[in-house]
Amino acid sequence: MGTVVQIKVSIDPAKYGEARAKDAINRAFDEIKRIEDVYSLYKDSSEISRINRLKKNERLQISDGVFNLIHKTLDYSERTGGAFDITVKPLVEVWNAARKADKMPEEREIKRVLGRVGYKNVVLDGIVRAIHFKKDGMGIDLGAAAKGYATDRAVSILEENGIDSALVNSGGDMYCLGKRTAHELWKVGVQHPRDKNRLFLEIRLKDRAIDTSGDYERYFFLEGKRYSHIIDPRTGYPIGDEVVSASVIAADSTTSDILATAMCVLGEKGLDIIKNYGGIDAVLVTEERGHLKVRMSEGIRKRYDISEEKL
Ligand code: ADP
Ligand code: MG
Repeated sequence: MGTVVQIKVSIDPAKYGEARAKDAINRAFDEIKRIEDVYSLYKDSSEISRINRLKKNERLQISDGVFNLIHKTLDYSERTGGAFDITVKPLVEVWNAARKADKMPEEREIKRVLGRVGYKNVVLDGIVRAIHFKKDGMGIDLGAAAKGYATDRAVSILEENGIDSALVNSGGDMYCLGKRTAHELWKVGVQHPRDKNRLFLEIRLKDRAIDTSGDYERYFFLEGKRYSHIIDPRTGYPIGDEVVSASVIAADSTTSDILATAMCVLGEKGLDIIKNYGGIDAVLVTEERGHLKVRMSEGIRKRYDISEEKL
């Protein structure tokens, strides 16, 4: 997945031997590797690549894991008014080609490709577990959700193997299982958006996921200007530079991965949207006239022990 995955487990050696813990960790890593094979856009044989070769109305039966993840992303597309949309793939390709050629795509080209984007053109059939597209030339890219999903799967494997305390970190998509010790929760840090050697937030978590998406992590240059790798599926263009970073805390990592990306597209409006979900919190950093501004979801400080540095 182009990232580093770290798994830490905390055990009581009297009850749970080190060899058993290592075995559980190895099984979790095997699951992550399996997921990488299923979700890769770069392997022709992957399930996602097979989906992406489908023509209009051509149906394909898919595995339960892929079905459920796509189902979840479509649900969040609906809830975010299309700010999150896995059908951005043709747009991602246009912007990748533009980056390689160092030439802005023509507006005409963006408009043309936008016609093949839209989560409403993905149809899932829950009875036979099949997928089809309503248009030709469509494709899905689960890049904004797969790392979180891999984290969740790794956590499930650890739990199935008797681990009740762990921290799984897939390139920033983190899940804190149980407590670190009997007296202490897991402590996770969020990097300062303008200085990677500093932390801006420290949060204590238990049975919660946290993920951050931001303009400082992945971006590209085109004709001398910097662009985000997150695209607004409604316009076809990379998101502007107002949102610096969005961190989302949720009950599972798939959700925090999806919503961290969505929050980057939605900005402040995203905070209003998550208010209605319950159980989801966010920290949004924006840049306004050269100043960094932090906004947090209502009640987050009551629910979590947060220490923060001034930005
Ligand atoms: P990171 O891995 O840096 O945390 P994200 O989780 O935000 O990144 O995912 C970004 C990737 O998701 C992009 O590289 C692209 O493949 C895809 N993507 C871009 N824009 C969107 C969007 N609006 N909705 C869903 N996926 C997107
Ligand atoms: Mg994401």
